[in-house]
Amino acid sequence: MKNIEYALKGFRAPFFKILNREKERFLCPICNYFGPFKDKNTRLHAKCPKCGELERARLQFLVLSKLFENKKLSTNKILHIAPENAFRKLFKKKFISYTSGDMFRKDVDENFDIQDIPFENETFDMVFASHVLEYPDDDLKAISEIKRILKPNGVAILPVPLVHDLTHDRKERHKITRMMHEPGLDYFKRFETIFSNVEIHKAEMYPEKHQLFIYRGDFGNGYPLSLGDGRYSDIVPVCYA
Ligand SMILES: [Zn+2]
Repeated sequence: MKNIEYALKGFRAPFFKILNREKERFLCPICNYFGPFKDKNTRLHAKCPKCGELERARLQFLVLSKLFENKKLSTNKILHIAPENAFRKLFKKKFISYTSGDMFRKDVDENFDIQDIPFENETFDMVFASHVLEYPDDDLKAISEIKRILKPNGVAILPVPLVHDLTHDRKERHKITRMMHEPGLDYFKRFETIFSNVEIHKAEMYPEKHQLFIYRGDFGNGYPLSLGDGRYSDIVPVCYA
């Protein structure tokens, strides 16, 4: 079923391209499509019409590609939490052993709570969990758990949505977003208390041709990292055990 879905998506991209000849063109680093991208509500040029991936996935993909260029990174075992399909394919190709996990989803290898991960110490070379840490009650416990299961030279990639300048830890879960923690730019300090080194990768550190910015326009009030023209940057933190 998934294969048919992918084939149909691939079929739609050429039509979208013809119908949107006048639109600005970009290069998707994930599927190599070149042409106009689709808008997603207020977010201009957000979605690649071929692979369907969004700004944040494109930035994460570029950061990962850079990491994989580094020969010191061991590609034995990865744990992929709340797995995205595009990265699932990439990780299965790059790593000898691939494990996926999620609290509830059925399409993963293991169901567990990230505050209590059922793996031995120093099991994985990489843990990838994007937009996950804003949900657990005790996010510091979750970050410690990720550090615990990483090998001594392992790396964790833990992006969170940046919604304020300063992080707001909620007393009750947000009714719509379900977040317990609303991350701000200071959120990455939590990683620094647990990991030996944290590298910050910003969208503007990568080529503009990939369209890695989030267009929030008038809806950007309160969001950090404004570029002043309706576009907002994004950050991918890379944490070294
Ligand atoms: Zn694409």
